[in-house]
Amino acid sequence: MNIRLHSLGLPRIGKNRELKRALESYWKGKISQARLEEQGRNIRMENWQLQKQNGLDMVNVGDFSFYDHVLDTSFLLGHLPRRFESAPVSSELDLYFGVARGLTQQHIEPSAMTKWFDTNYHYIVPEIDTGTRFTPRTQGLISRIREAADAGFTPKLQLLGPLSYLYLSKSSNPGSSDSEAARSKLDVLDALTEAYRRILQDAAAAGVEWVQIDEPILVLDSLDDAWRDGFARAYERLNEAFPRESGSNSRDGGRDNEDNNDSGGLSPNDSTGGAGGGLKLLLTTYFESIEEELETVLNLPVAGIHLDYEKNRKLLPRILKGLDARQILSLGVVNGRSPWREDLDARATELKEELIPLLDGNRQSRTSRLWLAPTCSLLHLPWSIQGEQLPRELEGVLGFTVEKLADLNRLGSLLKGRRPEKGEQKPVSQAPAAGGEPEPLRTSGTDEILDPNVEELLKTPRTSFARRSELQQEALNLPSLPTTTIGSFPQTPDIRKLRLSWKRGEIDTDAYEKRIKEIIEQNIRLQEEIGLDVLVHGEPERSDMVSFFADRLEGVWSSKAGWVQSYGSRCVKPPVIHASVRRSPDLGWKWISYAQGLTDKPVKGMLTGPVTIMKWSFVPPHTPPEKIAYNIALALREEVLELESNGISIIQIDEPAFREVLPLKQLKWPRALEWGAEAFRLSHAGVKDGTQIHSHMCYSDFNSIFEGIDAMDADVISIETSRSQGELFGELAKKGYTKGLGPGVYDIHSPLVPEAREIRTRVDRALAHLDPRQLWVNPDCGLKTRSWDEAKPALKAMVDSARELRNNA
Ligand code: GLN
Ligand code: ZN
Repeated sequence: MNIRLHSLGLPRIGKNRELKRALESYWKGKISQARLEEQGRNIRMENWQLQKQNGLDMVNVGDFSFYDHVLDTSFLLGHLPRRFESAPVSSELDLYFGVARGLTQQHIEPSAMTKWFDTNYHYIVPEIDTGTRFTPRTQGLISRIREAADAGFTPKLQLLGPLSYLYLSKSSNPGSSDSEAARSKLDVLDALTEAYRRILQDAAAAGVEWVQIDEPILVLDSLDDAWRDGFARAYERLNEAFPRESGSNSRDGGRDNEDNNDSGGLSPNDSTGGAGGGLKLLLTTYFESIEEELETVLNLPVAGIHLDYEKNRKLLPRILKGLDARQILSLGVVNGRSPWREDLDARATELKEELIPLLDGNRQSRTSRLWLAPTCSLLHLPWSIQGEQLPRELEGVLGFTVEKLADLNRLGSLLKGRRPEKGEQKPVSQAPAAGGEPEPLRTSGTDEILDPNVEELLKTPRTSFARRSELQQEALNLPSLPTTTIGSFPQTPDIRKLRLSWKRGEIDTDAYEKRIKEIIEQNIRLQEEIGLDVLVHGEPERSDMVSFFADRLEGVWSSKAGWVQSYGSRCVKPPVIHASVRRSPDLGWKWISYAQGLTDKPVKGMLTGPVTIMKWSFVPPHTPPEKIAYNIALALREEVLELESNGISIIQIDEPAFREVLPLKQLKWPRALEWGAEAFRLSHAGVKDGTQIHSHMCYSDFNSIFEGIDAMDADVISIETSRSQGELFGELAKKGYTKGLGPGVYDIHSPLVPEAREIRTRVDRALAHLDPRQLWVNPDCGLKTRSWDEAKPALKAMVDSARELRNNA
C-alpha cells in the first residue's frame, strides 16, 4: 500500500544558522544581494534533499523565507502597508526588509510583529484597510517552484490560506471598533480570493499539482459565522478556478467508498496534469483539534485535509464519515513541536488496525488515501540532535528535524510492512498507550517531575497593594514618572568574546568574573550619568534570558546547537525540561548584589519567570503544564529570597511569555490564567511588603489576560506599547488597574533612535488615562540587541523627556 509521506515545512535558518549570518552580513552591507540569494538557495536545496532522502514523496516550496512567511505572503499578494508604497529603496528585497525592520533613514516604521499562534515564532502582521488592493506578484514563487522541479524534486506548494492571512492581519482603519475592524477585514475577502486564484493559476501553470494551503485558524474555538461563510465563499471560488472532471477538488464526486479508480490523483502520474488542470488543495490545520470547525472543514471543496492525529483522534470516526471517497486524509503523526519522539511501533499498529481499513475500505488500489506528515511545520524544532551530548536518560528519547523526518520515514516503512533496518533506532516510548490515559513522564535514571506541594504558599495573600506601595515608596523615594530599563544592555562583541573564551577554558573563572564586574561597574556609572532612577546591572553574564537559567537549573537539559528561529535572523535555543527542577546557588544574584554595592540608587534585581522559562523550553508533551511551572517557580523563589536578603529591594521577574500561557482554545483560558498567575505568585511568595515586585511583558494586548495579570499581584508591570498603537491605557483604566505600569516609550527592536518628542507623545497618551503616580518610563524591552551608539542617545532622550514631563506636571 502506497502511503504518501510529506512535510508541512522545514526550518529555514540553515543547519548551522547560515541564514542568520548571511542576513546580518547583508544588513550590514558586508555581502551582496546575490550572495544572500545564494545562501537561500543552498538552504532550500539542503531541505529538499533531506525530505527526499527520508522518502518524502514531495518537497515543500514556499516554506523558505528570508524573514517570515506571513510577510512573504503579503509580498506575494502585492499587499504592503501604505506607508511603504513609495518608499525610496533600491530593491524589492530592501523594501521587504524595510517592512520587517523599518527604514531608518526614511523614518518609516516597521509593521507590527506578533506571535504565531501559541508558538514562540513571530510573524509580521499584515495591515488591512478599506483601500487595500491586492496585486499578486508570483515571479519569485514560480522561480522557486522551477528551482525545485529542475533539481528533480516534486514540488508541493505551501501557502498561507486566505482566511488565515486575513485573520492574522490587523485592520488599521482609524477609529473603528474591534467588531467593525473584523467586518472590514472580511470586506476585502473577495478581492483577496481573486488574488489567490491568480497565484494558484500561476502555480498550476508552473506544474504544481498539490498545494498545501495552511488554514491554522480552523483549530480556534473563536470563529464566528462570518468567518465560516468566508471559508465557504473563498474555497468555492478557488475551486471554480480548477474544475476537475474527475473531481478531486470537488465534493460532487460522490461518497462512494467502493470507488476503485484512483482519480483522486494520488500520484502526479495519475493526474491530468498540465497548465490549469490538476491543481489540488490540501487544506492544512495544525496545533489543535478542529473540533469546533469540523463541519466547516468537511464542507470545503478541497482534495484533502491535514490534521494533527493525536489532537483529533477522538474525532476521527466523524471525520472519516464526512470525507468524500476521493479526499485525502493527511495525519500529523510525528510531533513537529516537541522533540519527544513517538512510539512508532504502537502508532503503526494503531493506524494499521484502526484507521487504514476504514479509510481505504476494500479498495484494491495500490495507493492509500492516507498521507502521513509531522503534525505541523518543523520550523519550531532545531535541525538535528546529532553531535549533542544527551544525558543517558534522554538518549533515543529526543529528536529534532532530521530525526523527526527519519521517524516519519520509519513509520511509513512499518506501515508498508517493511521491517526496520538494522541499526535503525527504536525510540523509547513516551506516547500514551493506544486509547488510554497519557502515562506520566518517566525517564529511566532520573526522578519524574514531582507534583510540588504549593498549597500553603498560595494560600497566604500579600498585604494590600495600597499598603505595600506606601512602604515601598518610603523605602525607595522615587520621583514621579521614574525612569528605568528592562534589564539587559548591549551585548557587545567584547562581552560575547569574553563569554566564549571562558566557556572554552581560554580564560579562568577569576579573570572572567573580574571582567564581568568591570562591565557592571561601567553600566552603573553610565546609568548614573544618564540620570536613570532605577538602575540595572545590565545582564552581561547572560547570553539569553532563558538559557542562562536553564543551564543552572537541575532537571533541565540544554543543547549545544539546538537553535530555533524566533523572528527574522533571531534564534533561540530552547532548553529541555525533563525532570523535577531544582535551583543551583548560582542564578546570578551575586552580580546584582555587586552592582547594588556600587551605587546609592536602587538596583533592580532581574530574573526570568516560571511561565516564560516553561513556555520557551521544550517540555514532555504529556505532562500537565502547571506541574512543570510550579516546579520552576519554587526554584526561582529561592533566588528571589536570596536577592532580597542581599539588599535588593526591587526585583523584576520577567514574564515576556506570560500570554503564551493561553492555549489556542479560549475555553481553556480561565484555568490557564489561574495556574500561570499562581506560578508567578509562587515565585515571589513570602517577600517583604517593602520589596517591590516588577514584571515585564513583551506585548500590550492585555485584554485577554487581564485577570491573570491582576492575579500575578506584581507591583509594577512594564510592557511593550511602542510598536502597536496601544489603545490599552483606556482599557486598563476602565478595568480598574491601579498598580504600577511602565509602557514602553520606544521600540528597541528597531535601530531608529527615538526623538524626545515621540517619547513625550507616548507618555502623554498613557497620562490621559492613568494616574501619573502609576506610571514608569522605560523602553519597551531589553537593550541587548542594540549597540551602545543606539542605546545611549535613546536612553538620554527618554530621561530628558521624563524630566520635562515631570516639571510640566
Ligand atoms: N530582562 C530581559 C532583558 O532586558 C527581558 C527580556 C525580554 O523581555 N525578552 O533582556
Ligand atoms: Zn521584553
